[in-house]
Amino acid sequence: MELSYKGKVVGVTGAAGTAGIGFAIARKFLENGARVFICDLNEKALAEAKAALKDVGDVGTYRTDVSSEKDVKELFASALRDYGKIDIFVSNAGIYPQLMLKDMTEAQWDMVMNVNLKSVFLCAREAFACMKEKGGVLINAASYASLMASAGSGAYAASKAAVYSLTKTLAAEFAPYNIRVNGFIPGVIATGMTQGVISEKGEELESAIALHKLGKPDDVANAVAFLASDAASYLTGTFIEVSGGKLCVQNPDMPWKKKEE
Ligand code: NAD
Repeated sequence: MELSYKGKVVGVTGAAGTAGIGFAIARKFLENGARVFICDLNEKALAEAKAALKDVGDVGTYRTDVSSEKDVKELFASALRDYGKIDIFVSNAGIYPQLMLKDMTEAQWDMVMNVNLKSVFLCAREAFACMKEKGGVLINAASYASLMASAGSGAYAASKAAVYSLTKTLAAEFAPYNIRVNGFIPGVIATGMTQGVISEKGEELESAIALHKLGKPDDVANAVAFLASDAASYLTGTFIEVSGGKLCVQNPDMPWKKKEE
């Protein structure tokens, strides 16, 4: 399957970290002919991402806090001014604080909900205004935690379960405007976000994955590229799980042990 996004304008949030999923998504679209803009919190990281993508194209960068209505409105206004339209928008930014709920403050709870969940609503609303005449594609970052809650990151799991629900509602409400809305569900992808948990219990994590290996940002970028393409034109309100078969059975380690016997 050949993917081409020639003539398409793509936006990706939370894409400044060169080891992250958002950066890999931006690179994938640039490599396949799109004009791409990214946003993130930190100007310096954005400049580094721009330099790191120079070999594949000129990525537009905007400093944006996706949990702020004012910032998100400015992001879309600036991108429209600079690119003239937006065809594909990926809400990827997220935070993953590891805190037991009993120890969490109200401010920490609100931050998780605002960055992971409210941002998806704010971006979808602005994207709708850009896409309602000609159609478009929205793709949201859910998580394995959207499907199964997680002790030690309960607020994160609750926010991602809500992203799962919100994505489906957006798909239905935007369908009459030819705007498809889907999401991706990473399992354990090696990025800055998961660095701590991977170094703490890498092998234990792999043993819960049928393919027995962690994912790479590019694995997610490939799934996103497909969801954004015309090959996925009958897909809306759904998710691609990019997890190597994480807990696809209760005991994914068992066949590996059997093979060794
Ligand atoms: P990451 O931490 O490497 O990247 C997240 C990016 O979001 C960072 O560049 C960060 O600066 C940016 N960001 C954070 N708050 C922001 C804000 N308020 N405004 C704008 N940008 C902000 O994480 P990642 O692993 O690349 O994850 C990308 C997405 O995938 C996240 O939504 C995450 O929850 C989801 N996810 C990742 C995994 C995994 O295994 N890595 C698993 C499940 C879900």
